[in-house]
Amino acid sequence: MTETVDLKAFRQEVRSWLQANCPPEMRKPISHEDDSVWGGRNAKLSAPQKQWLLAMASRGWTVPTWPKEYGGDGLSHDEAKVLAQEMAALGCRPALLSFGIWMLGPALLKFGTEAQKLEHLPKIARGEIRWCQGYSEPNAGSDLASLASRAEDRGDHFIVNGQKIWTSYGDKADWIFCLVRTDTAKKHTGISFVLFDMTTPGVSTKPIQLISGKSPFCETFFDDVRVEKSNLVGTLNGGWDVAKYLLTHEREMIGAMGEGTLPQSMIQIAVSAAGKDELGRLADPHLRSQIAEFDMDEAAFHSTLSRFGELVKARQAHPAMSSMLKYYGAELNKRRWELIMSAGGTDALEWESDRSSHGGLARAWLRTKGNSIEGGTSEVQLNVIAKRILELPGA
Ligand SMILES: Cc1cc2nc3c(=O)[nH]c(=O)nc-3n(C[C@H](O)[C@H](O)[C@H](O)COP(=O)(O)OP(=O)(O)OC[C@H]3O[C@@H](n4cnc5c(N)ncnc54)[C@H](O)[C@@H]3O)c2cc1C
Repeated sequence: MTETVDLKAFRQEVRSWLQANCPPEMRKPISHEDDSVWGGRNAKLSAPQKQWLLAMASRGWTVPTWPKEYGGDGLSHDEAKVLAQEMAALGCRPALLSFGIWMLGPALLKFGTEAQKLEHLPKIARGEIRWCQGYSEPNAGSDLASLASRAEDRGDHFIVNGQKIWTSYGDKADWIFCLVRTDTAKKHTGISFVLFDMTTPGVSTKPIQLISGKSPFCETFFDDVRVEKSNLVGTLNGGWDVAKYLLTHEREMIGAMGEGTLPQSMIQIAVSAAGKDELGRLADPHLRSQIAEFDMDEAAFHSTLSRFGELVKARQAHPAMSSMLKYYGAELNKRRWELIMSAGGTDALEWESDRSSHGGLARAWLRTKGNSIEGGTSEVQLNVIAKRILELPGA
């Protein structure tokens, strides 16, 4: 596709700006969880991380397509794509990772009041407030609408009681976006979507350990938590619409992990474990063909994501497409990391020494096992695809 004159000029401007503003330390992939920036009141940033976040946020480029008044730069879809391409070309990592950007922001832009947008979106864009997601409960995962955490109407505020589970980074987040039951006589139409500060009296969290030895998960408990009615997003009992819309964004975000970046290419990892043959190729022919097959599937998925972007731009994307992208992207990412483990040979599982950055690769591999569960399991996505896209009988 040929680029317009305006877009070419924009590309040039972006390139020069990134070269001038992205510190060299921020021009390499994030090597492990602690190397990333999630923002928030208690974030501890290195000097280059701080400099990069400040530069990107003041340009409005942590959320490039959001309107300027909410902390973005109002870029068009094509301009945002140019920015992403130029960042990738220079190896710039994202300045900020954030559930606020990927999930809550889009939902607030669509359902929030003007006051809610002005209050929360700029703080998300600048990485000042870190958010977590209070959806799942011990008896409400795939069947999310059976959630039981209760918000009682007390005039100008609600009193919330109940428990959430699998709250990623619940112990690190400043605020939570949360689904609560406001009508016990109804299922989907008795749910509301509320926001509150995690330091409100009555909120507590308890970490849950995981196989990788590193856990983002918490159980989150609410005991008589006061939530002002001004923090209700959308209508009372209309939270399911907000929740579903937010989930499409969460699923696209998880699906996009199928395009992941790695500290080293898979071939480099495999070559250092298995060596090269006399023709200079990776010595293990079976692994070589598996990597080639993976590379082709990844390229095809990349094209599918671009096509999806174009459909969104033309307002022709099927609302259930996010389930397709989530399903395939999650399975692809799991395959990628299985292959990396094969490519790394026996050393890949090592996780105690400096040499392996204390098991960075092995922990990342174990973390991907959750990709086909978080944001709705792969089985649930297949149900959605069968029902809403393929329109199969009985689905
Ligand atoms: C890494 C990770 C991060 C997460 N972060 C968060 C978070 O921040 N906040 C939050 O609220 N939640 C979070 N979750 C929870 C996640 O949303 C739930 O785990 C998920 O929705 C599945 O619910 P469940 O665990 O209760 O499993 P269940 O719903 O009990 O499912 C168990 C099994 O049954 C299958 N199954 C269930 N129903 C059907 C059906 N109708 N058809 C076919 N198969 C079915 C499922 O596919 C699964 O294999 C996270 C989960 C993971 C793994």
